[in-house]
Amino acid sequence: MSQRYFADQALLPTGWASQVLLEVDATGTLTDVSPNSTPGNAQRLAGPVLPGMPNLHSHAFQRAMAGLAEMGSSQPDSFWSWRERMYGLVDRLTPDQVGVIAQALYIEMLKGGYTQVSEFHYLHHDTSGQAYSDPAEMAWAITGAAERSGIALTLLPVLYAHSGFGGQPPNHGQRRFIHDVPEFLKLLERLAPHLTDHPTQALGMAFHSLRAVTLKEMQEVLATNPIGPRHIHVAEQQREVDESLVYSGKRPVRWLLDNVAVDERWCLIHATHLDDTEVRDLAACGAVAGLCPTTEANLGDGLFRAVEYAAQGGRLGIGSDSHVSLDVVEELRLLEYGQRLATQQRNCLHDSAIRPVADWLYRSALAGGAQASGQPIGALEVGKRADLVVLDGSDPYLATSKDDTRLGRWLFGGSKQQICDVMVAGRWVIQQRRHALDDANRAALTRLFTEIN
Ligand code: ZN
Repeated sequence: MSQRYFADQALLPTGWASQVLLEVDATGTLTDVSPNSTPGNAQRLAGPVLPGMPNLHSHAFQRAMAGLAEMGSSQPDSFWSWRERMYGLVDRLTPDQVGVIAQALYIEMLKGGYTQVSEFHYLHHDTSGQAYSDPAEMAWAITGAAERSGIALTLLPVLYAHSGFGGQPPNHGQRRFIHDVPEFLKLLERLAPHLTDHPTQALGMAFHSLRAVTLKEMQEVLATNPIGPRHIHVAEQQREVDESLVYSGKRPVRWLLDNVAVDERWCLIHATHLDDTEVRDLAACGAVAGLCPTTEANLGDGLFRAVEYAAQGGRLGIGSDSHVSLDVVEELRLLEYGQRLATQQRNCLHDSAIRPVADWLYRSALAGGAQASGQPIGALEVGKRADLVVLDGSDPYLATSKDDTRLGRWLFGGSKQQICDVMVAGRWVIQQRRHALDDANRAALTRLFTEIN
Protein backbone atom coordinates (compact mmCIF):
# COMPACT_ATOMS: atom_id res chain seq x y z
CA MET A 1 0.00 0.00 0.00
CA SER A 2 1.33 3.43 -0.79
CA GLN A 3 1.71 6.26 1.74
CA ARG A 4 1.29 9.98 1.08
CA TYR A 5 3.20 12.78 2.80
CA PHE A 6 2.95 16.53 2.53
CA ALA A 7 5.80 19.01 3.02
CA ASP A 8 5.49 22.81 3.13
CA GLN A 9 8.99 22.91 1.63
CA ALA A 10 11.08 20.17 0.04
CA LEU A 11 14.44 20.23 -1.73
CA LEU A 12 13.85 18.82 -5.24
CA PRO A 13 16.46 18.36 -8.01
CA THR A 14 15.46 21.80 -9.34
CA GLY A 15 15.81 23.49 -5.93
CA TRP A 16 13.38 24.27 -3.10
CA ALA A 17 9.69 23.73 -3.87
CA SER A 18 6.57 24.48 -1.82
CA GLN A 19 3.46 22.46 -0.91
CA VAL A 20 5.01 19.19 -2.05
CA LEU A 21 3.06 15.95 -2.06
CA LEU A 22 5.23 12.82 -1.85
CA GLU A 23 3.90 9.34 -2.52
CA VAL A 24 5.84 6.23 -1.48
CA ASP A 25 4.95 2.69 -2.55
CA ALA A 26 5.27 -0.51 -0.53
CA THR A 27 8.84 -1.09 -1.73
CA GLY A 28 9.91 2.29 -0.30
CA THR A 29 10.21 3.98 -3.71
CA LEU A 30 8.92 7.47 -4.53
CA THR A 31 6.04 7.15 -7.00
CA ASP A 32 4.91 10.78 -7.05
CA VAL A 33 6.58 14.10 -6.18
CA SER A 34 4.26 17.03 -6.90
CA PRO A 35 4.89 20.64 -5.85
CA ASN A 36 2.07 23.17 -5.46
CA SER A 37 -0.33 20.46 -4.27
CA THR A 38 -2.94 20.32 -1.54
CA PRO A 39 -2.39 18.00 1.42
CA GLY A 40 -5.70 16.11 1.27
CA ASN A 41 -5.36 13.16 3.64
CA ALA A 42 -1.55 13.01 3.38
CA GLN A 43 0.53 12.96 6.57
CA ARG A 44 1.96 16.44 7.18
CA LEU A 45 5.69 16.46 7.77
CA ALA A 46 7.14 18.49 10.64
CA GLY A 47 9.29 20.89 8.62
CA PRO A 48 11.50 21.32 5.55
CA VAL A 49 12.31 17.99 3.85
CA LEU A 50 15.63 17.02 2.31
CA PRO A 51 16.83 13.88 0.57
CA GLY A 52 18.83 11.84 3.11
CA MET A 53 22.59 12.23 2.75
CA PRO A 54 24.72 9.21 1.71
CA ASN A 55 27.78 8.67 3.90
CA LEU A 56 30.29 7.34 1.39
CA HIS A 57 33.08 6.23 3.72
CA SER A 58 32.92 4.38 7.04
CA HIS A 59 35.08 2.01 9.07
CA ALA A 60 32.46 1.08 11.67
CA PHE A 61 34.77 -0.39 14.32
CA GLN A 62 36.84 2.82 14.50
CA ARG A 63 33.92 4.55 16.24
CA ALA A 64 35.00 2.72 19.42
CA MET A 65 38.23 4.79 19.61
CA ALA A 66 36.79 8.20 18.64
CA GLY A 67 38.23 10.79 21.02
CA LEU A 68 40.73 8.40 22.65
CA ALA A 69 43.76 9.34 20.54
CA GLU A 70 43.97 13.04 21.39
CA MET A 71 47.02 13.11 23.69
CA GLY A 72 50.06 15.25 23.03
CA SER A 73 53.61 13.98 23.45
CA SER A 74 57.15 15.33 23.17
CA GLN A 75 57.32 13.99 19.61
CA PRO A 76 55.32 15.40 16.66
CA ASP A 77 52.25 13.21 16.18
CA SER A 78 50.77 12.01 12.88
CA PHE A 79 48.40 9.66 11.09
CA TRP A 80 50.94 6.85 11.51
CA SER A 81 50.93 6.88 15.32
CA TRP A 82 47.11 7.06 15.24
CA ARG A 83 47.19 3.96 13.03
CA GLU A 84 49.24 2.04 15.63
CA ARG A 85 46.60 2.85 18.23
CA MET A 86 43.87 1.71 15.85
CA TYR A 87 45.68 -1.59 15.33
CA GLY A 88 45.68 -2.01 19.14
CA LEU A 89 41.87 -1.87 19.10
CA VAL A 90 41.60 -4.14 16.07
CA ASP A 91 43.64 -6.82 17.85
CA ARG A 92 40.81 -7.64 20.22
CA LEU A 93 37.36 -7.10 18.66
CA THR A 94 34.95 -10.02 18.14
CA PRO A 95 32.18 -10.08 15.52
CA ASP A 96 29.57 -9.58 18.27
CA GLN A 97 31.42 -6.52 19.54
CA VAL A 98 31.74 -5.11 16.02
CA GLY A 99 27.97 -5.64 15.64
CA VAL A 100 27.27 -3.63 18.81
CA ILE A 101 29.60 -0.79 17.76
CA ALA A 102 28.19 -0.70 14.23
CA GLN A 103 24.56 -0.70 15.36
CA ALA A 104 25.15 2.23 17.70
CA LEU A 105 27.18 4.01 15.04
CA TYR A 106 24.53 3.63 12.36
CA ILE A 107 21.81 4.96 14.68
CA GLU A 108 23.99 8.00 15.37
CA MET A 109 24.46 8.43 11.63
CA LEU A 110 20.69 8.43 11.08
CA LYS A 111 20.33 11.13 13.74
CA GLY A 112 23.11 13.08 12.02
CA GLY A 113 21.30 13.16 8.66
CA TYR A 114 22.78 10.12 6.88
CA THR A 115 20.33 7.57 5.46
CA GLN A 116 22.85 5.38 3.63
CA VAL A 117 26.39 4.25 4.43
CA SER A 118 29.15 2.75 2.29
CA GLU A 119 31.09 0.54 4.66
CA PHE A 120 34.76 0.14 3.67
CA HIS A 121 35.10 -3.23 5.36
CA TYR A 122 38.60 -4.59 5.93
CA LEU A 123 38.41 -6.28 9.35
CA HIS A 124 37.82 -9.80 8.06
CA HIS A 125 39.57 -12.46 10.19
CA ASP A 126 39.79 -13.73 13.77
CA THR A 127 42.29 -12.37 16.30
CA SER A 128 44.98 -14.82 15.18
CA GLY A 129 44.57 -13.75 11.54
CA GLN A 130 42.78 -16.95 10.46
CA ALA A 131 39.57 -16.80 8.44
CA TYR A 132 36.43 -17.55 10.48
CA SER A 133 34.73 -20.85 9.61
CA ASP A 134 32.34 -18.63 7.67
CA PRO A 135 34.76 -16.15 6.03
CA ALA A 136 31.94 -13.58 5.86
CA GLU A 137 31.26 -13.64 9.62
CA MET A 138 32.49 -10.08 10.19
CA ALA A 139 30.57 -8.90 7.13
CA TRP A 140 27.38 -10.36 8.61
CA ALA A 141 28.03 -8.37 11.79
CA ILE A 142 27.93 -5.24 9.62
CA THR A 143 24.90 -6.19 7.52
CA GLY A 144 22.99 -7.22 10.68
CA ALA A 145 23.80 -3.92 12.40
CA ALA A 146 22.62 -1.97 9.35
CA GLU A 147 19.42 -4.01 9.26
CA ARG A 148 18.64 -3.40 12.95
CA SER A 149 19.39 0.31 12.76
CA GLY A 150 17.42 0.76 9.54
CA ILE A 151 20.21 2.54 7.64
CA ALA A 152 20.76 1.48 4.02
CA LEU A 153 24.13 -0.10 3.29
CA THR A 154 26.58 -0.57 0.46
CA LEU A 155 29.07 -3.11 1.74
CA LEU A 156 32.55 -2.71 0.26
CA PRO A 157 34.68 -5.72 1.20
CA VAL A 158 38.29 -4.61 0.97
CA LEU A 159 41.22 -6.36 -0.65
CA TYR A 160 44.21 -5.74 1.63
CA ALA A 161 47.28 -7.84 0.82
CA HIS A 162 50.48 -5.90 1.61
CA SER A 163 52.03 -3.40 3.98
CA GLY A 164 53.66 -1.13 1.41
CA PHE A 165 54.29 -0.36 -2.26
CA GLY A 166 55.65 -3.20 -4.38
CA GLY A 167 53.91 -6.05 -2.55
CA GLN A 168 55.69 -5.84 0.81
CA PRO A 169 54.59 -8.55 3.27
CA PRO A 170 51.83 -7.51 5.70
CA ASN A 171 52.85 -6.72 9.29
CA HIS A 172 51.50 -8.29 12.47
CA GLY A 173 48.99 -5.47 13.11
CA GLN A 174 47.42 -6.12 9.69
CA ARG A 175 46.87 -9.88 10.09
CA ARG A 176 43.08 -9.62 10.42
CA PHE A 177 42.78 -7.72 7.11
CA ILE A 178 44.72 -9.92 4.69
CA HIS A 179 43.47 -11.88 1.65
CA ASP A 180 45.04 -13.14 -1.52
CA VAL A 181 43.00 -12.58 -4.67
CA PRO A 182 41.29 -16.02 -4.85
CA GLU A 183 40.20 -15.80 -1.18
CA PHE A 184 38.93 -12.28 -1.74
CA LEU A 185 36.91 -13.28 -4.81
CA LYS A 186 35.37 -16.13 -2.78
CA LEU A 187 34.30 -13.60 -0.14
CA LEU A 188 32.57 -11.47 -2.80
CA GLU A 189 30.86 -14.58 -4.16
CA ARG A 190 29.64 -15.54 -0.70
CA LEU A 191 28.18 -12.07 -0.06
CA ALA A 192 26.64 -11.37 -3.46
CA PRO A 193 23.39 -13.40 -3.22
CA HIS A 194 22.41 -11.89 0.14
CA LEU A 195 23.21 -8.31 -0.79
CA THR A 196 21.86 -8.24 -4.33
CA ASP A 197 18.47 -9.54 -3.17
CA HIS A 198 18.17 -7.10 -0.29
CA PRO A 199 15.90 -4.04 -0.65
CA THR A 200 18.26 -1.56 1.09
CA GLN A 201 21.65 -3.28 0.91
CA ALA A 202 24.05 -3.60 -2.00
CA LEU A 203 27.52 -4.92 -2.70
CA GLY A 204 30.55 -3.18 -4.16
CA MET A 205 34.25 -3.70 -3.49
CA ALA A 206 37.35 -1.77 -2.51
CA PHE A 207 41.09 -1.89 -2.74
CA HIS A 208 42.51 -0.65 0.54
CA SER A 209 45.18 1.57 -1.04
CA LEU A 210 48.05 1.45 -3.48
CA ARG A 211 50.20 0.46 -0.48
CA ALA A 212 48.08 -2.64 0.09
CA VAL A 213 47.59 -4.09 -3.41
CA THR A 214 49.77 -4.55 -6.48
CA LEU A 215 48.76 -3.66 -10.04
CA LYS A 216 48.60 -7.37 -10.90
CA GLU A 217 46.21 -8.03 -8.01
CA MET A 218 44.00 -5.10 -9.02
CA GLN A 219 43.92 -6.35 -12.60
CA GLU A 220 43.00 -9.88 -11.50
CA VAL A 221 40.06 -8.62 -9.45
CA LEU A 222 38.85 -6.13 -12.08
CA ALA A 223 39.03 -8.82 -14.77
CA THR A 224 36.13 -10.57 -12.97
CA ASN A 225 34.06 -7.38 -13.45
CA PRO A 226 32.87 -7.17 -9.83
CA ILE A 227 29.41 -5.69 -9.29
CA GLY A 228 28.80 -2.27 -7.77
CA PRO A 229 31.03 0.68 -7.00
CA ARG A 230 34.82 0.48 -6.52
CA HIS A 231 36.49 2.48 -3.79
CA ILE A 232 40.13 3.05 -2.84
CA HIS A 233 42.01 5.21 -0.31
CA VAL A 234 44.50 7.33 -2.20
CA ALA A 235 46.97 10.17 -1.53
CA GLU A 236 45.74 10.76 2.02
CA GLN A 237 49.19 11.47 3.42
CA GLN A 238 52.30 13.20 2.06
CA ARG A 239 54.34 10.14 3.11
CA GLU A 240 52.23 8.00 0.75
CA VAL A 241 52.99 10.42 -2.08
CA ASP A 242 56.72 10.28 -1.29
CA GLU A 243 56.74 6.46 -1.13
CA SER A 244 54.81 6.26 -4.39
CA LEU A 245 57.34 8.53 -6.11
CA VAL A 246 60.22 6.36 -4.85
CA TYR A 247 58.48 3.15 -5.95
CA SER A 248 57.06 4.14 -9.34
CA GLY A 249 58.26 7.65 -10.14
CA LYS A 250 54.62 8.76 -10.07
CA ARG A 251 52.33 10.35 -7.53
CA PRO A 252 49.53 7.98 -6.33
CA VAL A 253 46.57 9.54 -8.18
CA ARG A 254 48.65 9.94 -11.35
CA TRP A 255 49.74 6.29 -11.14
CA LEU A 256 46.16 5.12 -10.60
CA LEU A 257 44.76 7.16 -13.50
CA ASP A 258 47.57 5.95 -15.79
CA ASN A 259 47.28 2.25 -14.92
CA VAL A 260 43.61 1.56 -14.22
CA ALA A 261 40.47 2.59 -16.14
CA VAL A 262 39.06 4.93 -13.47
CA ASP A 263 35.51 6.02 -14.39
CA GLU A 264 32.10 6.77 -12.85
CA ARG A 265 32.13 3.48 -10.95
CA TRP A 266 35.08 4.65 -8.85
CA CYS A 267 35.30 6.62 -5.65
CA LEU A 268 38.75 7.89 -4.62
CA ILE A 269 38.74 8.36 -0.85
CA HIS A 270 40.58 11.49 0.39
CA ALA A 271 42.65 12.26 -2.76
CA THR A 272 44.13 14.96 -0.55
CA HIS A 273 47.48 15.53 -2.20
CA LEU A 274 47.02 16.43 -5.87
CA ASP A 275 49.09 18.43 -8.33
CA ASP A 276 47.45 20.54 -11.05
CA THR A 277 47.24 17.79 -13.66
CA GLU A 278 45.85 15.32 -11.12
CA VAL A 279 43.11 17.80 -10.18
CA ARG A 280 42.25 18.23 -13.85
CA ASP A 281 42.30 14.53 -14.77
CA LEU A 282 40.49 13.34 -11.67
CA ALA A 283 37.73 15.89 -12.34
CA ALA A 284 37.51 14.77 -15.98
CA CYS A 285 37.30 11.01 -15.37
CA GLY A 286 33.85 11.15 -13.71
CA ALA A 287 34.91 9.38 -10.49
CA VAL A 288 33.83 10.76 -7.11
CA ALA A 289 36.32 12.25 -4.66
CA GLY A 290 35.28 10.83 -1.27
CA LEU A 291 36.05 13.61 1.19
CA CYS A 292 36.02 13.09 4.95
CA PRO A 293 36.68 16.60 6.29
CA THR A 294 36.44 15.96 10.05
CA THR A 295 38.62 12.85 9.92
CA GLU A 296 41.12 14.49 7.56
CA ALA A 297 41.33 17.41 10.00
CA ASN A 298 41.63 15.09 13.00
CA LEU A 299 44.44 13.11 11.39
CA GLY A 300 46.26 16.16 10.07
CA ASP A 301 46.07 14.82 6.50
CA GLY A 302 45.99 18.09 4.58
CA LEU A 303 43.39 19.90 2.52
CA PHE A 304 41.67 18.69 -0.65
CA ARG A 305 41.80 21.25 -3.49
CA ALA A 306 38.03 21.53 -3.63
CA VAL A 307 37.73 24.95 -5.27
CA GLU A 308 39.91 24.10 -8.27
CA TYR A 309 38.44 20.60 -8.53
CA ALA A 310 34.84 21.81 -8.43
CA ALA A 311 35.57 24.56 -10.96
CA GLN A 312 36.57 21.82 -13.41
CA GLY A 313 33.37 19.85 -12.83
CA GLY A 314 34.80 17.35 -10.35
CA ARG A 315 32.33 15.25 -8.37
CA LEU A 316 32.52 14.88 -4.60
CA GLY A 317 30.72 13.34 -1.65
CA ILE A 318 31.25 13.13 2.10
CA GLY A 319 32.08 10.36 4.56
CA SER A 320 32.61 10.18 8.30
CA ASP A 321 35.49 7.66 7.98
CA SER A 322 36.91 7.31 11.54
CA HIS A 323 33.72 8.78 13.05
CA VAL A 324 35.07 11.60 15.18
CA SER A 325 31.89 13.33 14.01
CA LEU A 326 28.56 11.89 12.86
CA ASP A 327 26.90 14.98 11.54
CA VAL A 328 26.18 16.11 7.99
CA VAL A 329 26.26 19.71 9.24
CA GLU A 330 29.80 19.52 10.64
CA GLU A 331 31.16 17.60 7.66
CA LEU A 332 29.84 20.05 5.04
CA ARG A 333 30.66 23.12 7.11
CA LEU A 334 34.26 22.02 7.55
CA LEU A 335 34.55 21.25 3.84
CA GLU A 336 33.79 24.92 3.10
CA TYR A 337 35.71 26.34 6.07
CA GLY A 338 38.89 24.50 5.08
CA GLN A 339 38.79 26.27 1.73
CA ARG A 340 38.16 29.64 3.44
CA LEU A 341 41.14 29.15 5.75
CA ALA A 342 43.37 28.14 2.85
CA THR A 343 42.32 30.95 0.47
CA GLN A 344 41.57 33.73 2.99
CA GLN A 345 38.28 34.24 1.17
CA ARG A 346 34.60 33.64 2.00
CA ASN A 347 31.92 31.64 0.17
CA CYS A 348 34.31 29.45 -1.81
CA LEU A 349 32.17 26.53 -2.99
CA HIS A 350 29.34 27.49 -5.35
CA ASP A 351 28.79 27.84 -9.09
CA SER A 352 26.81 29.98 -11.51
CA ALA A 353 23.78 27.68 -11.17
CA ILE A 354 23.76 27.43 -7.35
CA ARG A 355 24.90 30.52 -5.44
CA PRO A 356 23.95 29.70 -1.83
CA VAL A 357 27.05 27.87 -0.59
CA ALA A 358 25.07 25.56 1.69
CA ASP A 359 22.83 24.50 -1.22
CA TRP A 360 25.87 23.83 -3.41
CA LEU A 361 27.50 21.77 -0.66
CA TYR A 362 24.40 19.73 0.13
CA ARG A 363 23.38 19.08 -3.46
CA SER A 364 26.91 18.24 -4.62
CA ALA A 365 27.41 15.80 -1.74
CA LEU A 366 24.03 14.20 -2.46
CA ALA A 367 24.89 13.59 -6.11
CA GLY A 368 28.42 12.35 -5.46
CA GLY A 369 27.33 10.23 -2.50
CA ALA A 370 24.57 8.60 -4.55
CA GLN A 371 26.97 7.81 -7.39
CA ALA A 372 29.54 6.34 -5.01
CA SER A 373 26.95 4.16 -3.26
CA GLY A 374 25.57 2.55 -6.43
CA GLN A 375 22.01 2.83 -5.10
CA PRO A 376 18.95 4.73 -6.47
CA ILE A 377 19.11 7.62 -4.00
CA GLY A 378 20.14 11.25 -3.62
CA ALA A 379 17.04 13.08 -4.90
CA LEU A 380 13.35 13.49 -4.19
CA GLU A 381 12.13 12.28 -7.57
CA VAL A 382 10.01 9.46 -8.92
CA GLY A 383 11.87 6.14 -9.00
CA LYS A 384 14.32 7.03 -6.23
CA ARG A 385 14.27 5.43 -2.79
CA ALA A 386 12.26 7.39 -0.24
CA ASP A 387 15.12 8.48 2.04
CA LEU A 388 14.00 11.66 3.81
CA VAL A 389 15.40 13.97 6.45
CA VAL A 390 12.79 16.23 8.05
CA LEU A 391 14.05 19.36 9.80
CA ASP A 392 12.28 21.04 12.71
CA GLY A 393 9.76 23.42 11.15
CA SER A 394 9.04 25.05 14.55
CA ASP A 395 12.67 26.15 14.92
CA PRO A 396 12.65 29.97 14.62
CA TYR A 397 15.77 30.07 12.43
CA LEU A 398 14.32 27.57 9.95
CA ALA A 399 10.70 28.71 10.17
CA THR A 400 11.61 32.26 9.10
CA SER A 401 14.16 31.30 6.43
CA LYS A 402 13.58 31.69 2.69
CA ASP A 403 14.50 29.30 -0.09
CA ASP A 404 17.94 30.86 -0.56
CA THR A 405 18.77 31.01 3.16
CA ARG A 406 17.18 27.82 4.58
CA LEU A 407 20.20 25.55 4.15
CA GLY A 408 22.57 28.35 5.16
CA ARG A 409 20.67 28.76 8.43
CA TRP A 410 21.06 25.03 9.02
CA LEU A 411 24.57 24.24 7.79
CA PHE A 412 26.32 27.43 8.92
CA GLY A 413 24.17 28.48 11.87
CA GLY A 414 22.61 25.30 13.18
CA SER A 415 23.29 21.68 14.05
CA LYS A 416 22.06 18.12 13.72
CA GLN A 417 19.78 18.83 16.71
CA GLN A 418 17.41 20.42 14.17
CA ILE A 419 16.78 17.03 12.53
CA CYS A 420 13.40 15.70 13.75
CA ASP A 421 12.49 12.67 11.66
CA VAL A 422 14.36 10.38 9.28
CA MET A 423 12.92 7.89 6.79
CA VAL A 424 14.81 5.17 4.91
CA ALA A 425 13.08 3.37 2.05
CA GLY A 426 9.64 4.52 3.19
CA ARG A 427 10.12 3.49 6.84
CA TRP A 428 10.52 5.96 9.71
CA VAL A 429 13.72 5.11 11.58
CA ILE A 430 14.04 8.30 13.64
CA GLN A 431 10.88 9.91 14.99
CA GLN A 432 11.00 13.05 17.10
CA ARG A 433 14.77 12.61 17.42
CA ARG A 434 14.50 9.08 18.83
CA HIS A 435 15.28 5.59 17.53
CA ALA A 436 13.38 2.57 18.85
CA LEU A 437 16.64 0.96 20.02
CA ASP A 438 18.04 4.02 21.85
CA ASP A 439 17.84 2.64 25.39
CA ALA A 440 19.06 -0.88 24.57
CA ASN A 441 21.81 0.66 22.53
CA ARG A 442 23.16 2.87 25.31
CA ALA A 443 23.28 -0.06 27.73
CA ALA A 444 25.02 -2.36 25.23
CA LEU A 445 27.59 0.26 24.32
CA THR A 446 28.40 1.09 27.94
CA ARG A 447 28.94 -2.63 28.66
CA LEU A 448 31.14 -2.98 25.60
CA PHE A 449 33.35 0.02 26.40
CA THR A 450 33.79 -1.32 29.94
CA GLU A 451 34.98 -4.62 28.44
CA ILE A 452 37.39 -3.31 25.84
CA ASN A 453 38.91 -0.14 27.32
ZN1 ZN B 1 39.21 5.26 5.46
